[in-house]
Amino acid sequence: MPIRVSNLRLSVNVPETALPAHLARRLGILIGDLGSWRILKKSLDARSSTDLQFVYTTLVEIADGKAGQLKLGSDGRGDLQFYEPPQFEDASPGSEPLSERPIVVGSGPAGLLAGYYLARKGYRPLIIERGAAVKTRVPVVRQFDRGGEFDRENNYLFGEGGAGCFSDGKLTCRLEGPDVDWVLQSFVECGGRPSLVYENRPHLGSNKLPMICRNYRRKIEALGGEYKFGCRLEGIQIRDGRVVGIQTSSGDIPCGQLILGIGHSARDTYQMLYELGVPMVQKAFQLGLRIEQPQSQINHHKYGRPEYETLLGAADYTLQARGAKDVFTFCMCAGGIIMPSISEPNMFCSNGMSNSRHDSPFANSGIMATLQPSEFGDSHPLAGMHLQQHYEAIAFQLGQANYLAPIQTAQDFLKGRATAPATKLDCSYERGVHPAQLDQLLPAVVTQAIRQSLPIMDKKLRGDFLKNAILVGPEMRGSSPIRIDRDLTSRQCPNIEGLYPVGEGAGYAGGIISAAVDGLRSARVIVRQFQSLQPS
Ligand SMILES: Cc1cc2nc3c(=O)[nH]c(=O)nc-3n(C[C@H](O)[C@H](O)[C@H](O)COP(=O)(O)OP(=O)(O)OC[C@H]3O[C@@H](n4cnc5c(N)ncnc54)[C@H](O)[C@@H]3O)c2cc1C
Repeated sequence: MPIRVSNLRLSVNVPETALPAHLARRLGILIGDLGSWRILKKSLDARSSTDLQFVYTTLVEIADGKAGQLKLGSDGRGDLQFYEPPQFEDASPGSEPLSERPIVVGSGPAGLLAGYYLARKGYRPLIIERGAAVKTRVPVVRQFDRGGEFDRENNYLFGEGGAGCFSDGKLTCRLEGPDVDWVLQSFVECGGRPSLVYENRPHLGSNKLPMICRNYRRKIEALGGEYKFGCRLEGIQIRDGRVVGIQTSSGDIPCGQLILGIGHSARDTYQMLYELGVPMVQKAFQLGLRIEQPQSQINHHKYGRPEYETLLGAADYTLQARGAKDVFTFCMCAGGIIMPSISEPNMFCSNGMSNSRHDSPFANSGIMATLQPSEFGDSHPLAGMHLQQHYEAIAFQLGQANYLAPIQTAQDFLKGRATAPATKLDCSYERGVHPAQLDQLLPAVVTQAIRQSLPIMDKKLRGDFLKNAILVGPEMRGSSPIRIDRDLTSRQCPNIEGLYPVGEGAGYAGGIISAAVDGLRSARVIVRQFQSLQPS
């Protein structure tokens, strides 16, 4: 039985190649008796600025006859234990014949992993995506950043890879277990570095994601799956409570099993689903502003010593402030940029991303609070979405009706005064900024909570949080304001057989990995029920 060795601490200067020697010493065996080993988790302990340490948890096999000599648990901390990691539950194909191949709507993380699993199991999924492949999508987005036209179907949220493709690429989530491990391993199979599977806070970087999305596609296609780009879901044909086909911008397609991974920004599709009677309810969502300050301040605060900066790269932070409404930092992008998270014309909304090298001189993060359905001011299931649209439309106007980012210094925001037009405003948002009073961009209860929280957060960073800081906003696309109802076991809408809402847009995930796991799990339900399809 393998042994888990936890809490093995090595200075950050010690290379990973030294691990076997340290493991053998910890286990009290000769290094030659150490069999195979792998890292299960690696995290950074930065509590002491004079001795930063990596903390490892590893899984070790020991040569025959030697394991019995070990006194596991003798350290009194449980750091040495026999441990069999939980296995991934792979589905065996079911017995019901499939009349049509399964269709996946959306190629974001939820749709992508659903498609990848189905393809690997021989179900030849058809993935329809309203936007274009990354090769076309990326240049369109770059053009927009430089001042070009807004494209409804190819932007930071729509197109191959979905929001995930231009996300910051932090592969963290609250879930853990074999499904998460399977998803992380698939990222490695599609071009991610092998250490992703054990890093405590793996980060791919926005620059790597297009390549990874393309690699998933190539694998899916090689396994008999198919992609249709520029193909927007516009209707679902339902007969006797079952999905029998879909209407798309490229024509009708027969379909019995439909995985809906549309993300939380497809507002036209939400509207269509609502009119069709797909059951949905209001859901609490997060909203706020984005703060940006020089990255050097954050590095200085966290590391103290400049050599750590070279060794560990741009430092991050996670902060929260408790109050009548809690406020927390969200999607902190060390060495990152602020970008427009927009999928509709004449709206503005911010978000952040960073490349794998974290090499911009700025740090940015969402400063968010949660708005409950009782605060939406309307009982309509789409009220949260309407509220987002209301504030995003104001932001567009404040940004000179040209997608400039409304901006205010943090100090002016705190004092409720306008930022003088002549103020020098350093900001990473490429298209340009325009001074504005940001309290117009959020419900008063959220503005008030953020105003109270910023000084508390600044204290935690000993003044390095608000110094030279600017705010832009609003930030509204951190989570979905809607949940599409689905049965716990069948993962289908209760009144519509064959309709599987998945991912962030359906209200069951918040982030790349949780969306991907959600897609995987619904695909597994399809595999368990139906026979696979032979490649044509
Ligand atoms: C800037 C930014 C940074 C982020 N950073 C991180 C991060 O670092 N870590 C993290 O975990 N999460 C991050 N996120 C969130 C993460 O990207 C999402 O949680 C995740 O992408 C949700 O996956 P999804 O598949 O549910 O939806 P999406 O990724 O939104 O994908 C939905 C897809 O469906 C397509 N679609 C929509 N409607 C239709 C239709 N009618 N017909 C056909 N296709 C349709 C869209 O074009 C899109 O491709 C970030 C998001 C943004 C915007």
